[in-house]
Amino acid sequence: MAMVDAEAIVKELRETYASGKTKNYEWRVSQLKALLKIAEHHEKEIVDALNSDLSKPELECFVHEISMMKTSCKHALKELKRWMKPEKVKTSLTTFPSSAEIVPEPFGVVLVISAWNYPFLLSLDPVIGAIAAGNAVVLKPSEVAPATSSVLAKLLGEYMDVTAIRVVEGAVPETTALLEQKWDKIFYTGNGKVGRIVMAAAAKHLTPVVLELGGKSPVVVDSNINLKVAVRRIIAGKWGCNNGQACISPDYIITTKENVPKLLDAMKLELEKFYGNDPLKSGDISRIVNANHFHRLSKLLDDNKVVDKVVHGGQRDENNLKIAPTILLDVPEDSLIMKEEIFGPLLPILTVNKVEDSIEFINAREKPLAAYLFTGNKKLEEEFVRNISAGGLLINDTTLHLATSTLPFGGVGESGMGSYHGRFSFEAFSHKKAVLRRSFGGDVPARYPPYTPEKVRFL
Ligand code: NAD
Repeated sequence: MAMVDAEAIVKELRETYASGKTKNYEWRVSQLKALLKIAEHHEKEIVDALNSDLSKPELECFVHEISMMKTSCKHALKELKRWMKPEKVKTSLTTFPSSAEIVPEPFGVVLVISAWNYPFLLSLDPVIGAIAAGNAVVLKPSEVAPATSSVLAKLLGEYMDVTAIRVVEGAVPETTALLEQKWDKIFYTGNGKVGRIVMAAAAKHLTPVVLELGGKSPVVVDSNINLKVAVRRIIAGKWGCNNGQACISPDYIITTKENVPKLLDAMKLELEKFYGNDPLKSGDISRIVNANHFHRLSKLLDDNKVVDKVVHGGQRDENNLKIAPTILLDVPEDSLIMKEEIFGPLLPILTVNKVEDSIEFINAREKPLAAYLFTGNKKLEEEFVRNISAGGLLINDTTLHLATSTLPFGGVGESGMGSYHGRFSFEAFSHKKAVLRRSFGGDVPARYPPYTPEKVRFL
């Protein structure tokens, strides 16, 4: 796509937005319903695309992508009237008599740039928020999941009002061209390096951004727990979420030295139950998205500092881009695998003397998108909640906070800024306009010059 097209698209969407069409409640509802129809009528096409992009198991396609998108859409349809309603607020004596309200207002024409790992959900979930809030929107899906990107372009083109909602496919040149335009809000999902590029482009136009980034999400495992349930939940959040290619997948485990043998045995047992003894052949696990990411992950495993640390798994099949669930024990802190977000099926276990030491370990690093704690100890739980800064915390499970629409989902520090889901999606794409209403009565002469000493005393 040439740059001139980006300009033309934004111009057209601006005209639509200026017409006021996208602000109508009925228009928003019609577009949300159209999105829902896409998911309902084209399930097979969407699953096929996800399968082609990631060999994503069908159950994961339904539960993590299609069904979550539908839930989000239905929730917006149900709540929209309430969200759109101006919120009456109290006024002060200074403005008496008056009334005040906060009026949610769409930003205008917004850009959504999404990532490849949940290419259906992560594209449409922000778009749901943008439409609910009354914006015109351009969606740029990830070129790293080309089949899903193309299905999205086709289906949104067929079902949506294309005068206000557009899909632009493409990679860096196309995204760069889009980023040169003036947007009223940019919502980006992906890594922090590109997040910085997006923010720099946005700064030129003073455009606000939401950055949904990643990080190394730790899992702290205490000893006084139901180990079997804990281990199954860790596996579900790691390998059961796109084979670890998920932004809130457990990145590493911290536990005590004494706890390691029991934990490892339980993990091996459950992994074998889930994926058999040749996990490379399991149909219940996604492949690595492409050769670049396969080599990136291979480099983490082949790092001299960790080659002798693999205690489970490690099998790789380059032709089919498969990597088995792999556990490493006691990797050095300066190894590559501990320096960057893993975003794949490798899981290091680090050990501390006391489980409480894990808090200091986590706080010495960048703020993660999620932090997990498995414990039966309420005091430790409270300390964790009070002292760990992360996008979200989850006690005694993994990843499920993302599916709780009453909770905001987003990062802090290196893991991002801003949040969405449920009402927070509507708010992410709305300006809170302050409106104060007065009548002509109650005019206080002391407010006007000349400023006499009596007036100063009165006020
Ligand atoms: P990606 O490669 O799909 O890139 C994301 C988007 O950025 C794409 O649309 C791509 O076209 C665009 N892009 C890439 N390079 C660019 C450039 N130079 N200029 C402008 N645009 C560019 O995805 P990724 O970054 O590999 O995604 C993985 C990362 O995303 C991980 O860090 C993960 O934790 C994070 N993530 C976060 C969330 C979240 O909700 N917080 C969800 C998924 C992934």
